[in-house]
Amino acid sequence: MFRLLNVSGRSALEVDGAWYDLARLSGDDTLADPMVAVGRSDELHGLTDRCASATPDGRVADADLGAPVPRPRQVFAVGLNYADHAAESGMEVPPAPLTFTKFPSSIAGPTADIPLSGELVDWEVEIVAVVGRACSHVRLEGAWDVLAGLTLGQDVSDRLVQMTGTPPQFCLGKSFPAYSPIGPALVSIDSLADPSDIALWCDVSGERMQDSRSANLIFSVPTLVAYLSSICPLEPGDLIFTGTPDGVGMARGRFLKEGDVVVSGAERIGELRNACIAGQGPFQP
Ligand code: ZN
Repeated sequence: MFRLLNVSGRSALEVDGAWYDLARLSGDDTLADPMVAVGRSDELHGLTDRCASATPDGRVADADLGAPVPRPRQVFAVGLNYADHAAESGMEVPPAPLTFTKFPSSIAGPTADIPLSGELVDWEVEIVAVVGRACSHVRLEGAWDVLAGLTLGQDVSDRLVQMTGTPPQFCLGKSFPAYSPIGPALVSIDSLADPSDIALWCDVSGERMQDSRSANLIFSVPTLVAYLSSICPLEPGDLIFTGTPDGVGMARGRFLKEGDVVVSGAERIGELRNACIAGQGPFQP
């Protein structure tokens, strides 16, 4: 079991609310880079055991947390992967995972501010699968084994950019800076009682907007890994945003505004807390 953090840009392990600098703990400076740590996730179980006899470097509550996977090579995201969300969107459930890209420049830490790109910016809480080893054509029954673990993400979405034109423009509308906050920890699969059934929720300025469980995914995490890896070879640190449950702003007629605080949570993974600030809209061609 392990919980991998990014503390001030360096890999750290979390045990009982304390954090331990991974390079210091292991004596291996290369492990300071969170991307290296994600690619060597097998070693993190044993290093976590070492924390019991080591001195912590600080309390997680006081730490400056960054994205546990700060520079993913590929960021996949899946649309309409909960039936209730497809229904509130007035869309049919797709016959195969409806996949788009969140460009990696949109990745941010668990407490990053979100600069709003317009008047129609929306929230989407999602479980995020983190690839742990290079793989392709992964079989369904081996799919959990290629993952380093799971984390939590917000698929922040500018609906105006997304829905302008036919067909719609998913990738860019979901890729403004800080539109992909993730964290607070990358949690190993064996830390989760049932990795296929995790409670997740989203509060906007204190109001519960989304409340579901990942057991409601139409295409499960193993199915997404098998499907995506059959087309795109996967690399350590690649992310899969697995889709959002119902309760998004577009269905409520309520969008994010300056001063809103988005709190996204998942059982055993933790919470993201992102404040909305003034941002810049896109160039109008
Ligand atoms: Zn989404």
